Amino acid sequence: MPTMPLSLMVTEGFEQVVYGHDADVGLRAIVAIHSTVLGPALGGTRFWPYHDEGQALVDVCRLARGMTYKHAAAGLGQGGGKAVIIGDPAQLRSDELVLAYGRLVDGLGGRYITAEDVGTTQADMDLVRTVTRHVTGVSEHLGGSGDPSPATALGVLWGMRAVATRLWGSRELAGRHVCIAGVGKVGSALADHLHAEGARLTVADVRPEAVAAVVERTGATEVTADAAHAVQCDLYAPCALGGALSVTTIGELRCAAVVGSANNQLATPQDAQRIHDSGVLYAPDYVVNAGGVINIAEERHGYDRARAEQRIRGIEDTVLEVLDLADAERCTTAAAADRVAERRIDAARRAARVRPPGDLTATAGM
Ligand code: NAD
Repeated sequence: MPTMPLSLMVTEGFEQVVYGHDADVGLRAIVAIHSTVLGPALGGTRFWPYHDEGQALVDVCRLARGMTYKHAAAGLGQGGGKAVIIGDPAQLRSDELVLAYGRLVDGLGGRYITAEDVGTTQADMDLVRTVTRHVTGVSEHLGGSGDPSPATALGVLWGMRAVATRLWGSRELAGRHVCIAGVGKVGSALADHLHAEGARLTVADVRPEAVAAVVERTGATEVTADAAHAVQCDLYAPCALGGALSVTTIGELRCAAVVGSANNQLATPQDAQRIHDSGVLYAPDYVVNAGGVINIAEERHGYDRARAEQRIRGIEDTVLEVLDLADAERCTTAAAADRVAERRIDAARRAARVRPPGDLTATAGM
């Protein structure tokens, strides 16, 4: 079985990788806890038909590490983790399996807090909640915060304000031309915010009905999905799938900046330097799209929407901090985001070292 060798956990900086198995219900799961330096490791559960366990392990570790950086950059008092359940949810999912998975999470004693991800649903998390309290993203009647997409869209809006301040000296978005690629849950809510701000919109999606709905509400101009990145505009917002910024698309950008919700916008790590060299300002994806996790983090204190929205507006400051650091250290904005995250983790680690024994005060504010 392709377990992660301890030596690799050391070099990759993972704290714990746990395997769970329950033959009676067909559960095969991996939980990767990358870091708990800032607090319990939070991340969703992906239920996916991986080809083999090695592929599942690589995916869960990559995603867990990403959560550490996303939470740290957002200033959240929680670490990074992720879980995968191996198999096709359409064939394998049963209530018994979900409950067995919940007990696996519970056994980690709160070091890992789970949530919904691709292949799992809010109903699954509600079921998990019956066997462990270490779960977020449950239904609102159970104290959850509901669908994170509106919060993510709000965060992107505030990320755009930061970029506008940097580029044009004002956070005002009225009159700015924004092209949104992907008007699903996040992209369509973002379009509504921008329309209310008085921005001019161009939108694209592979689903004509999604485009039609946004055009009707906002008066946006429509463009085909394969041409969206090349629209002459102020801000380009990739809100569909990952890999929007590649060797091909970066050369064709005609915007001043890229600020969107999609995860993993850079097709390869080299594209960070490529977009930097092109003169287009890139607001790093995981900083800009943190509204959803900031929102969910509020559940741990008893969810309060107004307080959550206040914290989400903080994305404006984080983006400005990242842009300033990139200038000061002459690095790409992607590298600067990683440095902001790493510095917060290092500071928390140092604070934990000097803390007197028995002092269990949290090391970072939520
Ligand atoms: P969604 O599935 O609701 O919307 C995605 C939209 O993109 C769909 O309407 C789809 O038809 C469209 N699309 C697919 N391929 C396209 C293409 N080539 N060109 C244009 N449109 C295309 O997903 P979502 O929840 O709105 O998330 C959008 C992105 O933001 C994803 O990358 C997601 O990982 C990321 N994200 C979402 C959240 C959240 O809270 N939902 C949080 C963080 C990051």
